[in-house]
Amino acid sequence: MSEAATMTAAGEFRAAGTDLSERRRTGVSKGPVVDLVLPGDDGIVWGADGAATIGAFATIATIAADTRIKDAYPGVAATALGLATPQIRHLATLGGNLAQRSRCWYYRNPHIACLKKGGSDCPARAGNHLYGVAFDLGPCVAPHPSSMAAALLAYEATVSTDRRKALSIAELLGNGSDGRADHALQAGETIRSIVLPTPLQGERALYKRAISRSYAEWPLVEICARAVIADGAFRFVRIAAGGIAPVPLRLQAAEAALEGRPPTEATIANAAKLAATGAKPLPMTGYKLDLLDGLVRDLLGALAK
Ligand SMILES: Cc1cc2nc3c(=O)[nH]c(=O)nc-3n(C[C@H](O)[C@H](O)[C@H](O)COP(=O)(O)OP(=O)(O)OC[C@H]3O[C@@H](n4cnc5c(N)ncnc54)[C@H](O)[C@@H]3O)c2cc1C
Repeated sequence: MSEAATMTAAGEFRAAGTDLSERRRTGVSKGPVVDLVLPGDDGIVWGADGAATIGAFATIATIAADTRIKDAYPGVAATALGLATPQIRHLATLGGNLAQRSRCWYYRNPHIACLKKGGSDCPARAGNHLYGVAFDLGPCVAPHPSSMAAALLAYEATVSTDRRKALSIAELLGNGSDGRADHALQAGETIRSIVLPTPLQGERALYKRAISRSYAEWPLVEICARAVIADGAFRFVRIAAGGIAPVPLRLQAAEAALEGRPPTEATIANAAKLAATGAKPLPMTGYKLDLLDGLVRDLLGALAK
């Protein structure tokens, strides 16, 4: 899937335009713009089972501030509150966040060809990839930009579009092997809503990011972790990481090392080490594995308290 994925025959979609407008200004996105109007898709609806459905047009600020979301899905609310700036959060939509394009500086430079712009290779791979992936899963070495996608992956949320129901985050974003795409939406397909599962009894969740400056920046690495601790052991753990791969990743080896074990420092340190299972850092991105280790330790340690 290429740039055309968020376009109709008539032009590229715009929700709030906080991502698109920058690409328009630099000329990376050209041609007509189609303003999305999704009536009724800007709110949060609760099912009798306590599960939330969030409309694609809900703003990030709405999600961050919603008290029921904070109680039921604290990792989602904390991620929303932690990204971008108050001004961006006030405008940016959840659908636009999931479908936003790569932050790679080669992609964002209108004078440089890259896979995502119809070029034949990824210039960052042999060039400056300091903010690139540490899990090298495909030809493009830019990490996926969506913080919300990582949080929704931790919650095993599903996405409905105008054409398909209950897509997993992996189905929405692909597996990173297609360097041309940031998501696997079909041409002209629109995200309509995101469905979160019913919260588990006793579940807690936290979000934390490592960032190169304290404000208004995408993270180097970010983690959303959920856990149920009961009868002296981790009973359920989901850890999803952003900033490290072309798509957000579940840290399944770390999760498996925690489940059924007591929430001790040693258990958590072992899981943090295993978070790097499958990593293939680039020459400049090995530091991200240290950040990953530290974030897993911090978050699971805090959840265990
Ligand atoms: C300084 C700064 C810091 C930021 N930091 C972060 C961060 O840490 N984490 C993070 O995740 N984001 C970050 N962002 C990005 C921001 O979250 C996105 O720009 C925003 O979420 C995009 O939403 P939008 O509604 O404005 O999308 P738009 O700009 O309108 O659209 C973005 C893309 O998505 C497509 N699209 C929009 N809605 C839909 C839909 N419903 N269905 C299908 N396609 C759609 C559009 O065609 C377009 O290609 C940051 C932005 C800035 C400026």
